[in-house]
Amino acid sequence: MTVAGIETVELILTGWCVGVGETALCQRCKTTLGEGSAITVYAYRRAGEQLVSVPRLYCRDCDRRSIEHPTCGCSEWLAEARLALTADVAQQSHNLTLCNVEILVEHGPEAGVSR
Ligand SMILES: [Zn+2]
Repeated sequence: MTVAGIETVELILTGWCVGVGETALCQRCKTTLGEGSAITVYAYRRAGEQLVSVPRLYCRDCDRRSIEHPTCGCSEWLAEARLALTADVAQQSHNLTLCNVEILVEHGPEAGVSR
């Protein structure tokens, strides 16, 4: 079951700000990730809400190819992405953002049900 449409989620995640300044950390091995790093991101959204959260990033070595514990009541996604450095002119700083987002896995809000 597709909740929002994978293309929609890819669009939401593209340009998503991650990390602090010019670096982000792998959730698992704490490797520093920077511009150009290929990563896997975990994103979710609670049923009935519009807001997507991106709580976790993984480096390629810790690549996750499945959602281990699907959460009841949430839509969840795993996506491949690359990190890009985007200038924030107003803040005179740089932020890491997601680009080339490609959804790998999607789980609907019914626990344990995969597409
Ligand atoms: Zn890692």
